[in-house]
Parts: sequence; C-alpha cells; structure tokens
Amino acid sequence: MPELPEVETVRRSLEFRLAGRLIEKVDIRRASAVAHPTLAGFSQGLVGQQFTAPQRRGKYLLLGLAAGGWLGVHLRMSGRLILRDPPLTEDLAHLRVILHLVGGGRLYFQDPRTFGRLWYIRPDETPARVIPTLARLGPEPADLELTYFQSALARRSIAIKTALLDQALVAGIGNIYADESLFQAGIHPLTPANQLDPARLTKLIQSIQQVLNQAILAGGTTLRDYADSQGQPGNYQTRLQVYGRYQQACLQCGNPIHRLRLGGRSSHFCLTCQT
Ligand SMILES: [Zn+2]
Repeated sequence: MPELPEVETVRRSLEFRLAGRLIEKVDIRRASAVAHPTLAGFSQGLVGQQFTAPQRRGKYLLLGLAAGGWLGVHLRMSGRLILRDPPLTEDLAHLRVILHLVGGGRLYFQDPRTFGRLWYIRPDETPARVIPTLARLGPEPADLELTYFQSALARRSIAIKTALLDQALVAGIGNIYADESLFQAGIHPLTPANQLDPARLTKLIQSIQQVLNQAILAGGTTLRDYADSQGQPGNYQTRLQVYGRYQQACLQCGNPIHRLRLGGRSSHFCLTCQT
C-alpha cells in the first residue's frame, strides 16, 4: 500500500510533466473509481481544464487545475497513476479512468483492487469539504513538533505502533514506515504511547523524518507492484531494516527479527534493539 514516500514520489514524477497539460476527454471505465461528484459532473468538470502543480497531503494527491479546483486522488491499496506521452499502444489491465490530454498523452488511473478513488473538486468547493478525512489529517511528518506529539499522545495508552498509523495523529505513515521508524528510534511497537518520555519522543520524531526522507530519496518502496507515474519502481525495499524481514538477522545486533499481529497487521521489530 503506497505510503507518504510513494505518494510523494508519484507527485514528483508528475510535477513537471503534467503541469500545463490540457484535458481533452475523460473515459471512466469503472464508475466506483469516481467518488465525487457524479460521473457526468466528473467528466464535464475536467474536460477543458489545464493541470497546474500537483500537491500532496498525507497519502492524498491534489492535482491542481488552472481554473481553480483540483483532481483529488487516493491510491489506497493498489492504485497507480501512469502518465504516457505518446499513449500506450497496448490496453493495460485494470484501467479505471483515462484522461486524454491534448497533444496525445494520457493520464491513466490503474487499480487492480479497486479501492482507489478520484474526486473532482470544483473551484467553489474546498478539498477538505469534499474529502472529509482530509480535514481530520494530523500534521505532515516534516512538521511534527515535540509539544504537539506530547499532548496528542498524553491520554493515549494504545501501542505506539497503532498510534503512528492513526492519520489524525500524523499524516502519511503506514505499516512499513511505522515499523522502520520505531526500529530506528529503538522503541518496542507495543510501548504505550503515553509512556514515552520527551527524549524518546524526540528520537522518534527524528527517526520518522529521517526514514521518510531517505525513502523519498530512494523513490519509495516497491514490494509488489508500486511504481511512479513513469513506471519506475522504488528502491527503498533494499534498505528496510525490519519490515518483511521476519526471522532474518537484525542488521544491528544479529538476533532474529520478530513479528506480531497488531490490529490485523504485521509488526516487525527486534526484541534486543527495541525496548
Ligand atoms: Zn537488533
């Protein structure tokens, strides 16, 4: 599932190639991919629009439009944006929406598992009104501060791993980067969130920021099928310290990596390095 580094990599791969491009035609192949407004409203709203700079908030992409408004995108489990110029000659499987661009290019939304969603947000609407979860997102990890983190966690006795996955606490972190950040900070994933002292919380904030920055620089993590809008896979999977390394030797201490189920998801950690 794409997390912040993957979504940011997609945004960067679109930044210079999409800005200035005009939408000529909208081809919706699976109605459930369009979350707002109606199918007709989505097509009519987008045709004739020109893309500006794409933005990201948490795991959401907001592709700006020159007349105001946005094309909102959430990739969820398996969504991909593919920008091809000239268009693909073969018909890819699982294409849900195709935006035909003036000059012949195409922006494809491919989504095998069909959880991804697109929104056309009119100039007189705001992204947070159309996509309510946007309004509830916590700060971007790059903007995390100790005072905020301390007060947000003070009354929460849930496991710190579970807390990090809560998009209202901090936006954009999923299972992979929560595990990696906790390893780098030396914190056991089951530690109650309100039992971390300021020194450990400071270390955790630094670890989150470092892990995410390094993952962005590596173009994200490709475990199965993630790729940017150019079809370029990520590289960070070669640098994962704990995630997906069950029973392999910890790269710091040599002991086997542990795994436990937490809230329906696997947590990977080192019993020796994370206390
Ligand atoms: Zn270890």
